Amino acid sequence: MTRTDRIQNDHRLTQISLVKFTDEQVETVAKHLDVSVEEVQTYLSGDVPRDADMERAFYAVTSMYPFRPNGVGEPLPLNLHHFDLYQQRAGTTAMYPGRGQSLCYPAMGLAGEAGEVNEKAKKIVRDRQDLFAQPNDVEREKIKKELGDVLWYIAAICHEAGLSMKDVAEANLKKLASRKERGVIHGDGDDR
Ligand SMILES: [Mg+2]
Repeated sequence: MTRTDRIQNDHRLTQISLVKFTDEQVETVAKHLDVSVEEVQTYLSGDVPRDADMERAFYAVTSMYPFRPNGVGEPLPLNLHHFDLYQQRAGTTAMYPGRGQSLCYPAMGLAGEAGEVNEKAKKIVRDRQDLFAQPNDVEREKIKKELGDVLWYIAAICHEAGLSMKDVAEANLKKLASRKERGVIHGDGDDR
């Protein structure tokens, strides 16, 4: 499997992955497709490639529509799949030297955009002569744009490294939660 295939397989991003279904709904879909409940549950867990039949069945059985999560099912309180959705969409605008072959360009881009965020923050401090000054609406918008650029380059690096942004976000939250639990949130070392 090539890296591109692997990444595409990672993008099993549909509305159904954003919703928590009841056991009854899962059973109905299984019956509709003539497959086992376990098979449907495995699909919903996101550990298998995208399956159009499965998704159509969910839409049919639950009257759900893509990107309208107000239909059926209980939306998950925090669904990091949105990161993968972002990564997928960001990829549609990715055109740079070595795309699909090298980390180099997006890594440089990330550093540049992080610097632009820094620059915006610096100017607020400089203009107000106050280290604790808060951005006004115009400045906030500028920071938002630069943070978006940072995000875009993170998506590009994930693509080049064969990573999913969802996995990156999840691993980060887990790491920080574990440090908090163990009381080592402050201090040095990448692998605390
Ligand atoms: Mg920028």
